[in-house]
Amino acid sequence: MLKILTVFTVLILGMACKETLKSPPTDEGKITPPLSDSKDPSATKPHYAQSKKFIIASKKQVNDSRQFCIKSLKKMPNRISKANIKKVCAQVSLERSCYSKNKQPIFHYDKKGISSRGKKILALSLIHGDEHGSGTITSSWMNRLDGLKPRNTWRVLPVINPDGWDKSTRVNANGVDINRNFPSKDWEDLAYNWWRDKKKSDPRRYPGPKASSESETNCLLKHINNFKPDFIISIHTPLGLLDFDGPKVRAPSTLPLPWQKLGNFPGSLGRYMWKDHRVPVLTIELKGSRGIAKLEEFDRLQDISGTVAIRAGKLLNKNRTKN
Ligand SMILES: [Zn+2]
Repeated sequence: MLKILTVFTVLILGMACKETLKSPPTDEGKITPPLSDSKDPSATKPHYAQSKKFIIASKKQVNDSRQFCIKSLKKMPNRISKANIKKVCAQVSLERSCYSKNKQPIFHYDKKGISSRGKKILALSLIHGDEHGSGTITSSWMNRLDGLKPRNTWRVLPVINPDGWDKSTRVNANGVDINRNFPSKDWEDLAYNWWRDKKKSDPRRYPGPKASSESETNCLLKHINNFKPDFIISIHTPLGLLDFDGPKVRAPSTLPLPWQKLGNFPGSLGRYMWKDHRVPVLTIELKGSRGIAKLEEFDRLQDISGTVAIRAGKLLNKNRTKN
């Protein structure tokens, strides 16, 4: 059982603003612009471990990953139209080492934002292969980004764990929970013991033989090092809530899911990115295993996520300036 630490009450201030600049100005637009990242030395250098170069795969591999994208997106529940799948998958790319244990490509989609105050947002889903509805959200976001000029810059990885998804298992083909395999500072001391003692060696939550032992974990680490996100959105099912690891932001006013804090675990993305590297992570836990059915709600979730990213960035800059 996850322990709920705090429940945030949603404030009735502010408006969820649209990801497109066509939207009316919001309360956020009235706030004095924050210090740009370049003026704040501590903001520019997250302390990631140095990693190998980010190299795009060969033309053939990228083309194969586009076919794999089409196949994958067609499998999603409540999927986008076939024509849109084809269109959006024609734009995905592949880092050359981003393959699962069973050699399936872990493709990504990039869209550059146009606002100077926009943030770099990394969105991912199906890190747990049995959470089918999570992929519908990211593929829907890719589709939407394709048709607009967003304020934020996005990188989307809709299928982190293709082997687990094939078999509908939480874990990857090695039986490892990728979301317990990130090299958080406490991994050596806590990850294995926590799994054995607190989770009674539940095979669904096995953290792996060592930190970042899995190719899927390393693919995501490469993207983190290369893209240097200001904000990460990780989409899961089935708890039906928004769990935020980050500074105490004012929650947007109209939320489709309750804003609750669950905390994070040794080796999880939230522990690694927020606790160790001060990059906020918003975990969207859709209700039920198949996610939500209405496409408009996907859009709202994307806008809300973008708003939280910008608010968190402002707070972080403010805190850094004070310290
Ligand atoms: Zn999950």
